[in-house]
Amino acid sequence: MSGSPARPRAAVVVTGSELLTGAISDKNGPWVAEHLGALGFEVSHVLVVGDRPADLADALEFVRGAALVVTSGGLGPTADDLTAEVVASFAGVPLELDEPMRAHIAGILAAWARRTGFDGPALEEANRKQAMVPRGAVALPPVGTAPGLVVTVPDGPVVIVLPGPPRELQGMWQAALASDPVAALLAGVPPARSRSLRFFGLPESEIAATLRTLDAGDVEVTTCLRRSELEVDLRPAPGASADALADALVAAHERFLVSADGTSTDALVAAGLLDRGWTVATGESCTGGMLASRLIDRAGSSAYVAGGVVAYSNAAKTALLDVPAALIEAHGAVSPEVARALADGARARFGADVGIGITGVAGPDGGTEAKPVGYVCFCVTTADGAVLARDPRLPGGRSDVRERSTDVAMHLLLRAVRG
Ligand code: ATP
Ligand code: MG
Repeated sequence: MSGSPARPRAAVVVTGSELLTGAISDKNGPWVAEHLGALGFEVSHVLVVGDRPADLADALEFVRGAALVVTSGGLGPTADDLTAEVVASFAGVPLELDEPMRAHIAGILAAWARRTGFDGPALEEANRKQAMVPRGAVALPPVGTAPGLVVTVPDGPVVIVLPGPPRELQGMWQAALASDPVAALLAGVPPARSRSLRFFGLPESEIAATLRTLDAGDVEVTTCLRRSELEVDLRPAPGASADALADALVAAHERFLVSADGTSTDALVAAGLLDRGWTVATGESCTGGMLASRLIDRAGSSAYVAGGVVAYSNAAKTALLDVPAALIEAHGAVSPEVARALADGARARFGADVGIGITGVAGPDGGTEAKPVGYVCFCVTTADGAVLARDPRLPGGRSDVRERSTDVAMHLLLRAVRG
């Protein structure tokens, strides 16, 4: 980065002792960081602290230099919910009862009390606690029962305070951005204008080698492996463009390109099937329905997913997908021949246009020299006679093999719909 103006920095402080024990994994830090990045901030830190006020106060001090800080969690009615208090003292202001907010929360709590039968002084206490707002702060209407806050710290950051449950935090995000202090801040943030390239089957070292031959200029490049794809993110400094660098990377590795605009493989498969008016059916062994689940994950998938069969035993392959027992006998359940028969069987049984078969050795047992753990056979067949087959050896343990198999299958489907 050569002397270009810096992007304003933002930080995320996630609270919750349950995140430190490993009981649950943090969903808010990554979600907020991604959204801050898209808004044009440079995210400097995502900090996770327990429900201890002193630790939260330290974390806020640590990121005092940021333009924007987002906190998650600790807004509930229980004694360990102390975020509003700590943020108020960080801003040097007292907490005050926000009467309209108290009344608003009382309405929410009353409905809850009617549903559950829990009523009385505990609820009154909770109501009061959750309506305490740092003086001068903007209170954001709750999605659950906890209001969010936007607190402007004198000579410090704007702090957005959101509840911990991801559904609540995400539901209040737009309101937080629209609040006066955040809107004023956003007006001065240069647009991100980042580019995201996705490649499949391309090792990271190849991108690194290409980058060494190019002048990245004012573009920050990060690469990341996700769902067996290499994701290359290009973030230009304010005023700069990532397009020339993106074009050069695409030109150098066109054969492996999945998308040059950040579109996901799943979206491309869905769009491809819709475009052709095709339906797809799956015959899965080692993935146990993970491919069908991934296809059905998208809203609107009923337009192009016919169905799927998990045919795990040999008998099931024969009975449910018409894989000849003699074929299994001759080539083994894990073989390109059986993968093809699974694809054809699924296509025929569901009356679909595209069939896909997956059969492999997920491990840890069952591998042989000829068919080691991670050996997986894939086949896609289409109504117009196309046959696409692969039989790679995938690395990793049982869950890695099954996940990667699902990824490979999605890419084979993409290839089939792209023609
Ligand atoms: P509530 O009114 O629900 O208590 P809160 O702001 O106090 O809101 P927390 O007590 O911090 O929220 O969290 C409530 C629950 O939300 C947690 O037990 C957890 O299940 C979920 N949760 C909180 N933070 C996270 C996070 N960062 N990632 C994923 N889940 C989270
Ligand atoms: Mg709580």
